[in-house]
Amino acid sequence: MKKCLFLLCLLLCVTCFFCACDEAETPAPDPDPTPTHTHEWGEWRISILATCTTEGQEKRLCACGEVEKRVVPVTQEHTFTEKCMTAEYEYTSSVVQTVGIYCYKCSVCDAKGTNIYVTEDASICFGEYPQSLKAENVTVTETTDSRGYFLGSDGAYYAKVTATPYRNDYTFSSGIPVVGGEVYYFKVEPIRWRVISKEGNTVTVVCDSVIDRVVFDDDKSVDRYADSDVRAWLNTQFFNAAFSADQQEIITTTELSIDVEESIEDKVFLFSRDEVNKTDLFATNNDRLLISSDYIRAIGARVDAQTGVGIWWIRTFSSSTSGNALVVFTDGKIYQCNLDIAYVGVAPALTLDLS
Ligand SMILES: [Zn+2]
Ligand SMILES: [Zn+2]
Repeated sequence: MKKCLFLLCLLLCVTCFFCACDEAETPAPDPDPTPTHTHEWGEWRISILATCTTEGQEKRLCACGEVEKRVVPVTQEHTFTEKCMTAEYEYTSSVVQTVGIYCYKCSVCDAKGTNIYVTEDASICFGEYPQSLKAENVTVTETTDSRGYFLGSDGAYYAKVTATPYRNDYTFSSGIPVVGGEVYYFKVEPIRWRVISKEGNTVTVVCDSVIDRVVFDDDKSVDRYADSDVRAWLNTQFFNAAFSADQQEIITTTELSIDVEESIEDKVFLFSRDEVNKTDLFATNNDRLLISSDYIRAIGARVDAQTGVGIWWIRTFSSSTSGNALVVFTDGKIYQCNLDIAYVGVAPALTLDLS
C-alpha cells in the first residue's frame, strides 16, 4: 500500500512538473517586436537608362536595406550619334536627289536627324540637260515637248543634234566616234553636281561635268563679267532649260565678287579664280578635270580626245591681257583665253536652299 501511494505521488509530481514546465515555456505573443521605423531614403539613382523607345528605372535606398523603384518614362530625345550611311538621303523636297549627303541617325531607334553632313564624294542630282548619247536600243519618236526635245521609246526625252565636232578624232564616252554631219540624239537626264560647301540647309554646288559650250562674249571689248554674254546665258537660257519652275524656286541668289569693290547677285554663276583656288575639291590640277558630256563633244567643244576632259570658263578676267578671261584647261591648269573663243565649255555653279 505504501508503495502504491509513493508511485501515485511520484506520478503526480512528474505530471505537475511537466505541466509547470509546459506553461513556463509557451512564448507570450509579442505585439510589436521592433519599434516603428521611418525609412530615410537616399537620392533617386538611375538604374536603367530610359531611351527613345524604352522606359528606364530609378532606385533609392534606405539604410535598412529597403529599396524603392520607379519607372522613368520614354525620353522624347533621340541620340543622334550614328552616321546614317545609306547611299541616299531623301530630302522632303521632291526636286532634289542626293548621293553622299548623309544624316545622323538615332543610335537607338534609327530615326533620321535633321542635321546633314557632306561626304567627300557628295553629289546632288538636280535639274536636267541633254548629256549621254542615246542607247542603240532606244528609238526616237516624232513627238516633241515644249522644249523641242524628242520623246524616246524609253520614255525619256532626247535633244537632236547634227554633229560639228571640234576635231575629227573625238569619240563619245562609249567609244563610238563622233562623225561630223551625222545626226545624234542625246538623252535629257539629271545633272550631277559636286557639293562644294554646306551651311545649314544651304548647299553650294558646281556642275560635275562640262555641260555646254558657250562663248564668254562675242564682243572682246567687254571687261566685266557682269556685262558678259555667258552670264546672261547662264541665268536665262540655261536656267530655263535645265530647271523646272519648282527647281528654280529653291535656287537662291548668290552674291559674287567680280572685282575688289564690286559684287553682283546671280542664281547661276561661274566660279572665280579665287573660288577655284580656295575650294578643296579643286585643290590640285587633277581635281579640276571635268569630263565633257557626250552632247558637247558633238557641238564643237574642245576636249581631250583620249580622256574626254573638257575646258571650262572661270569668271575672272586675265590681269595681263585685255579681252581674255581665264579657263581651266584639259590639264587642270588655269590659262587665259579670248572671250570670243567658241570651243570653251561651262561648269555652272549655284546655291540651293534645301530647307
Ligand atoms: Zn528603412
Ligand atoms: Zn531614337
